[in-house]
Amino acid sequence: MIAGVFEPGGDAATLLYIVSFSLFIFGLMQGTHPRTAKNGNLIAAGGMVIAVVTTLLLDGIGNWGVIIGGLVVGSSVGYIASVRVQMTEMPQMVALYNGVGGGAVALIAWSEFRHESAYELETFIPILFAAVIGSVSFWGSNIAFAKLQDLIPTKPIAVPGQQVINALLLVGLVTACVILASSDDPSEGLFIGVLIGAALLGNLVVLPIGGADMPVVISLLNAATGLSAAAAGFSLDNVSLIVAGTLVGSSGTILTMEMATAMNRSISNILFAGFGGAPAASGAPGEERPHTSIGAQDAAIKLAYADSVVIVPGYGLAVAQAQHAVKEMANELEKRGVEVNYAIHPVAGRMPGHMNVLLAEADVPYEKLREMEDINPEMPRTDVAVIIGANDVTNPAAKNDPNSPIAGMPIIEAYEAKQVIVIKRSMSPGFAGIDNDLFYLPNTDMLFADAKAAAGEIAAAIEDL
Ligand code: NDP
Repeated sequence: MIAGVFEPGGDAATLLYIVSFSLFIFGLMQGTHPRTAKNGNLIAAGGMVIAVVTTLLLDGIGNWGVIIGGLVVGSSVGYIASVRVQMTEMPQMVALYNGVGGGAVALIAWSEFRHESAYELETFIPILFAAVIGSVSFWGSNIAFAKLQDLIPTKPIAVPGQQVINALLLVGLVTACVILASSDDPSEGLFIGVLIGAALLGNLVVLPIGGADMPVVISLLNAATGLSAAAAGFSLDNVSLIVAGTLVGSSGTILTMEMATAMNRSISNILFAGFGGAPAASGAPGEERPHTSIGAQDAAIKLAYADSVVIVPGYGLAVAQAQHAVKEMANELEKRGVEVNYAIHPVAGRMPGHMNVLLAEADVPYEKLREMEDINPEMPRTDVAVIIGANDVTNPAAKNDPNSPIAGMPIIEAYEAKQVIVIKRSMSPGFAGIDNDLFYLPNTDMLFADAKAAAGEIAAAIEDL
């Protein structure tokens, strides 16, 4: 077996690690635009290959059977998941991978603890940090995965006295870490106790959080895993791991804050208020309220004779995989001289950028994907707003009802359009579990159908007009 090519911490290994993390940074920069994002992913993956190969060729690496077994199992699982997992299942996949990352960091910390001989503070503190945060992330992410995969109830699970228990656990963990760090011969039993305490904390923090908040929590745990990986990088003296962990930590933190802002929630409210998935007290779904419904033919006529149409995509469009049918519908309209734009809400779907990725897949030109702040002022001049599988992101309750769970969340102001057509299968609520007043407005027509089937039928009907 080829091994021991590079000296750990030597110039050659450090140079290759610098190349690898430069590729991570360049890949991340490319990820900021849909046109270059795919390339960015490949570039970052190339950086990861360099980092892994460099590490495997370091002097002192052994246990090849375990390493090769791990590479084969990990690569197979990753390949199968990348082929099979649907875009709508990405949040739970991220949760699972993030959990695995956190678990790996916690195990590295444990292994480093066992191999440490001098227990210098500058390496021991990162080990303790990596152990606590890695373990919290592993367990928290697994609970998040189980919720999103419907393995356990998605609604908040109340744990009696949870806030007090969490506070006690936190104090206990900090105390145990201080005892470990100040001891000349730290106890492995206490270290394992820290891992178990952090595991309990991970479970107890995430269990009371509900469905609609889960993607934000996953992003937060992702940032935490990044920071724990950076700490592991310090104890392993691996510069590439330090930079990669810091990149994940900082980008994850920015993403978490952007998602929370787009939902008008604070991070502490998401973590401690126990909202998400619970039906609203007012406007609860199920009330019988009058609404009008139309078929695909009528919708086609309204759209074909409009001057301007704004398509508002949401989670249902992603579930139905309706992006190509919607593009076809838009093509038919444009052939007739109708101006078509797409209104993109930052948290439409189940992850940031969800709609951009889907519509880019159907070759919708980027300049037609208009951000919420940009398209909202044009809504009063829009003849028809077609809402396809979106719900919460168009709900006027966010603006009008201060008691609504989504109060203050910026929305696509589709209700301002001259006419509104809502394509969804029923009057069921969206992710936040609340009724949508937009469906009952006099200028709104409901078209009850699967998004892909409806868009296809409308496109065919416009062609026949
Ligand atoms: P919603 O979850 O509010 O609504 C989706 C609608 O799609 C449902 O009402 C459903 O109605 C309909 N639907 C489901 N399947 C189909 C289908 N096959 N064909 C047609 N319609 C279908 O989605 P939005 O995109 O409007 O809002 C996203 C929600 O997710 C918000 O609450 C947001 O806060 C939350 N969220 C999003 C994050 C993100 O980053 N994107 C992060 C965190 C939370 P019906 O069953 O009647 O068809």
